Amino acid sequence: MAPPISVPPTALTGLREDLAGEVYVPGDPGYDEARTIHNGMIDRRPAVIAQCATTEDVSNAVLFGRETGLPIAVRGGGHSVAGTSVVDDGLVIDLRRMHTVVADPEHMTVRVGGGATMSHLDHATQPFHLATTGGRVSTTGVGGFTLGGGSGWLERKFGLACDNLLAAELVTAEGKHVHADAETNPELFWALHGGGGNFGVATSLTLRLHELPEMSFAMLFFLPESAPEVVRTFRDLADRAPDEAGGGIIYFPAPPEPFIPEHLVGELVCAALISYAGPVAEVRDLAAPLFTLKPVVEMVTDIPYVDFQCMIDDPPGLRNYWSAEYLHALPDDAVDAFCARGALIPAPTATQHVLFMMGGAVAAGPADYPIPWRSAPWVVHPFATWEDPADDERAIQWVRDVRADARPWSTGDVYLNFIGAEGDARVVAGFGAENYRRLAAVKAVYDPDNVFRFNHNITPAAA
Ligand SMILES: Cc1cc2nc3c(=O)[nH]c(=O)nc-3n(C[C@H](O)[C@H](O)[C@H](O)COP(=O)(O)OP(=O)(O)OC[C@H]3O[C@@H](n4cnc5c(N)ncnc54)[C@H](O)[C@@H]3O)c2cc1C
Repeated sequence: MAPPISVPPTALTGLREDLAGEVYVPGDPGYDEARTIHNGMIDRRPAVIAQCATTEDVSNAVLFGRETGLPIAVRGGGHSVAGTSVVDDGLVIDLRRMHTVVADPEHMTVRVGGGATMSHLDHATQPFHLATTGGRVSTTGVGGFTLGGGSGWLERKFGLACDNLLAAELVTAEGKHVHADAETNPELFWALHGGGGNFGVATSLTLRLHELPEMSFAMLFFLPESAPEVVRTFRDLADRAPDEAGGGIIYFPAPPEPFIPEHLVGELVCAALISYAGPVAEVRDLAAPLFTLKPVVEMVTDIPYVDFQCMIDDPPGLRNYWSAEYLHALPDDAVDAFCARGALIPAPTATQHVLFMMGGAVAAGPADYPIPWRSAPWVVHPFATWEDPADDERAIQWVRDVRADARPWSTGDVYLNFIGAEGDARVVAGFGAENYRRLAAVKAVYDPDNVFRFNHNITPAAA
């Protein structure tokens, strides 16, 4: 391993003077908070953290990183499960201060700062009864989420987040400002639809908004022994569900919520969750076949979208390991395999074993983008979270077992935002081989030296 690069004090002083935001180095008050990300397994110590407040700050920080030779990581919401937004002995360009969100209800668009979270986005758009597809947890960064694809409750109605991307402002590896949209730098714009943070630092994204006057949901909890029948019923219901419906099946330990009877709290349950971009009566009708299976808890209600978006927020700091398999079909054997592994969720953990329905506007979205997984009708998403490092091995093994179980029905494609570091072959599977070659050519234009390499990395095409 190469020894850490020492930062010349004059360069650091220059950075502090140049930045409207803040600079943290080890020992500074605030340094530890600034280096902490969502996944508690990631404990890295950057040499410098540049908390940028403006596009010029980002540009100065990129140039500082290049001049000093520090490896550069880019941080938005800090939700990368692989921990790509923080780097040992390097420079973190932290965008969290750049969280301004400006909705334009007249043109049905919203301009989102590169470090804004879902919460910032939803709070700025919901007063107008407007929304776009966002992540299912309010603390996730809009930047990493959208550039990687962006899967959320509203995706079957409004498409993936990146399908709603209208324009981006980027700072490139040379520290230059570049605008990308369908007319200006179209190849770069294409690459931003799934290619992640490979091409530059997005200081703002402009997204399309949609009318969302009403949001409702049905959540029914079942005991694990009923799960195979519940999942089969859900699958059949999904076949005829309108695009307003999203959601899936989640195995997890029942949380301590007021609507959960005390004897169930902490017990493993199988929940059927339907999000619905419409009135509560319609979601109740859609969920009707599930009621006949005797849920132990049922909740059907309307809810403001901003509140729905926080419903499954996890506390930060838990240890996280996840993966995903995209399925071309969900026959009974696949249901049985899913349920058998669900019953084996390692305890005591806050792990979730998720099966999301896809289809709708996701499948119907632009086939050209580097998102080969969009046509899969189902995704199995084991989402292990736990507290005690002593549980690392069995939690990680359980995730790997879920993948192995699902493999007979797997398309082989994967959404990279749903996985950690699983090797180069999985990165190619995330984009598709042909798209990967095209992305590598774009990378060679905008980042030939692979300055932005802490991500699901695309190697620049050879000159
Ligand atoms: C609790 C939780 C729930 C999640 N739920 C969902 C979900 O419902 N749907 C879904 O699709 N995904 C979900 N994710 C995954 C999430 O989309 C990805 O982890 C995404 O990368 C997070 O973006 P971030 O900005 O928060 O992450 P960060 O860790 O800050 O960034 C991750 C990477 O994204 C890039 N990046 C981030 N911001 C920028 C920017 N402004 N410019 C350039 N590059 C940037 C960088 O390469 C960085 O390494 C979830 C993650 C967590 C932890």
